[in-house]
Amino acid sequence: MTDLDVLVFGGGVAGLWALDALRRSGWNAALVEAGALGSGQTVASQGIIHGGGKYMLLEQADGAAVEAIRGMPARWLDALAGRGAGPDLSAARILSPGCLLWVPRGSTLANLKERGLMAIVVGTGMLAAKPVEVSDDQWPAAIRASALKVWSMPEPVLDPGSVVEALAAAHRGRVFAVAERPRFEGEAVRFGSLVFRPRAVVFAAGEGNGELSRAVGCGEELMQRRPLAMTLLRGPALSPLYGHCVVGGKTRITVTSAQVGSETVWSIGGEVAEKCAAAPEDGAVRTEAAAELRRWIPGLDLSACRIATFRAVRAEA
Ligand SMILES: Cc1cc2nc3c(=O)[nH]c(=O)nc-3n(C[C@H](O)[C@H](O)[C@H](O)COP(=O)(O)OP(=O)(O)OC[C@H]3O[C@@H](n4cnc5c(N)ncnc54)[C@H](O)[C@@H]3O)c2cc1C
Repeated sequence: MTDLDVLVFGGGVAGLWALDALRRSGWNAALVEAGALGSGQTVASQGIIHGGGKYMLLEQADGAAVEAIRGMPARWLDALAGRGAGPDLSAARILSPGCLLWVPRGSTLANLKERGLMAIVVGTGMLAAKPVEVSDDQWPAAIRASALKVWSMPEPVLDPGSVVEALAAAHRGRVFAVAERPRFEGEAVRFGSLVFRPRAVVFAAGEGNGELSRAVGCGEELMQRRPLAMTLLRGPALSPLYGHCVVGGKTRITVTSAQVGSETVWSIGGEVAEKCAAAPEDGAVRTEAAAELRRWIPGLDLSACRIATFRAVRAEA
């Protein structure tokens, strides 16, 4: 039996960050992970460190969400530079220093509305760093022919796998793989022959938090689950793109990019991923996603691209 101050459940970004913070504050903490580190939402994510820009665009701007996360990019940039009070993430990979918001060409009315919304976003004092309009000669090749206006936000995009590795690196001996479901027996938490006696537990198990909460009798599950069907697009004609296509106050598609060999792979989320989650067949997801791409990036040559989809659940509790 191992005595601990804190046992953290879940080795995604939240649990690993918590473990790091606890141990650097001098607590005797350890973490248990039921699968592979990052294997929940973290590695599936698009890696954008949001600062609230896209929440300001909603027709009824979500001020509480903006307030809660406006400081995140600065906090992460400190960690990525290996300075400040947070973890040392200097080994993590920054895919892009910023993220774009672009308005596609469309109906005059829609465009006027979008530009009005953006004027409010740019003019507001709520964001820690305001979006800056990008001159058209600087627009990424992929949207040069189809965008009407483009803004840049200082919201970095990270390689989530490298964040997991950087976070875990300093805590190898304190991370335990557990195959069994936990049994909570009085003060002890048992995983087969592995037994801990923690003074406190942190549930950072993503979708697994529901089951853990029930196991300790926490009653009602306070969890928001958002199923997503993400699309991956790969092809020689693609060039790197990191940004949100904004229409009607919504991010219709959010594209982030990774380089695989000589090819660029786009990960496509945003509203399209929520819409596609309702499709029972992956074929239907691919068709719907391709239609959205043709609609918002009409110049994109999809004929030379391979398209795939994967499903994920955004679980927040
Ligand atoms: C497709 C997608 C794209 C996203 N894009 C972005 C983005 O661009 N920017 C952004 O800020 N957010 C994004 N998110 C959200 C972000 O990924 C999550 O908020 C974040 O990863 C949650 O981290 P977590 O550690 O709480 O959960 P998870 O990453 O889900 O980690 C939970 C871990 O707990 C483990 N676990 C489960 N049950 C147990 C148990 N009983 N015992 C031990 N371990 C257990 C799981 O195996 C898993 O590794 C995205 C999410 C998805 C799904």
